[in-house]
Amino acid sequence: MGVDNEQLMAWLKSYDSDDVTIGVVASHSSLQILHGARMEGFKTLGIAVGENRRKFYSAFPGAEPDEWLMLDNYSELLSKAKWLRERNVVIIPHGSLVEYLGSDNYRKLEVPTFGNRGILHWESSRERQRQWLESGGCELPKVIDDPHDIDGPVIVKYAGAKGGEGYFIARDYRDFKRNVNLDEDFTIQEYVLGCRYYMHFFFDPTATDGFQVQGKGSHAGKNLGRLELMSMDRRDESNVDEFYKLGSLRDLREMNLEPSFVVTGNMSVVIRESLLPKAFELAEGTVAASFELEEESRGMIGPFCLETIVNDRLEFRVFEISARIVAGSNPFIGGSPYSDLNEAFMSTGRRIARSIKKAIKNSELDRILS
Ligand code: ATP
Repeated sequence: MGVDNEQLMAWLKSYDSDDVTIGVVASHSSLQILHGARMEGFKTLGIAVGENRRKFYSAFPGAEPDEWLMLDNYSELLSKAKWLRERNVVIIPHGSLVEYLGSDNYRKLEVPTFGNRGILHWESSRERQRQWLESGGCELPKVIDDPHDIDGPVIVKYAGAKGGEGYFIARDYRDFKRNVNLDEDFTIQEYVLGCRYYMHFFFDPTATDGFQVQGKGSHAGKNLGRLELMSMDRRDESNVDEFYKLGSLRDLREMNLEPSFVVTGNMSVVIRESLLPKAFELAEGTVAASFELEEESRGMIGPFCLETIVNDRLEFRVFEISARIVAGSNPFIGGSPYSDLNEAFMSTGRRIARSIKKAIKNSELDRILS
């Protein structure tokens, strides 16, 4: 199940904490992470496959890594662990790292990483996510077990899909049968009509001030750490977001077109202010529940995102959690309407670096790494 505390402590023992380098795979949210690390005074390392990748970073001097580790393929990263540890590297994980390495390999990577790798087990399956989020007090879209029971719009999601690829909408069983690929595992979810808000939070277990998360279950009565709202985005999804321009769904079907949900970009949003207390309640419940997922769970550490839809009754449905930095935080390299209220120019990437800096100062790196 990955790295235990003893192993982490053994690695950290040989680290020169005055000379930590922040390492990241050059993709996803790396510009933000590298820029944030630099702003907090860290040396940076970019990890990439292919010279084209590297060249592209020279276009962004504020985020260009100080050093590169070039690989022939991403799984080679596993064999570079010693090299990375000798350079006091802390790796910041993001969606692409986990995707390129595979979640099993990522758990085995013998280099300190930011956040709790153990939480990945809970994040990596839809059923486990549901269990976690529901125990945190979130309401999720209904699941339809038998396709014959489809009696309104549903979204069909394939197990291995990333970035919404391959999902489709069905209104009835006939639609479902026409589009489904039965060779793959899928989940049928109620299609929730409403507006999407991808809310980027940061949980700092080492902070004792600010909005404190109240523990529950085995942690009842304890303050677990500080919850911060960093920013919010909405994704651009191709082609569903532009579909309406061609007419009704019926017209489109006559042209043999189906909506797809492939993420192509992100834009900044804010939510109605009166919805913020509920947003915090959901995030607080989710963090508190993360400490109860299994015995001795280290819980959530650092950035996470609740992916939600708010309907016209102003109710949230949470359809997914990402337990790490999300690419939706990329519009906020210069800060956001929420993070600006704590400190100006504080991106999630920089917040991660700030957290590492503080932990180095207080000799408590083991509390935020795994
Ligand atoms: P990622 O892991 O990159 O977040 P994913 O492939 O797991 O993406 P989801 O985030 O589950 O995909 O969904 C992709 C898109 O489909 C969402 O951004 C949203 O637009 C739409 N969507 C997902 N679930 C629902 C739902 N229940 N009702 C309405 N729309 C939905």
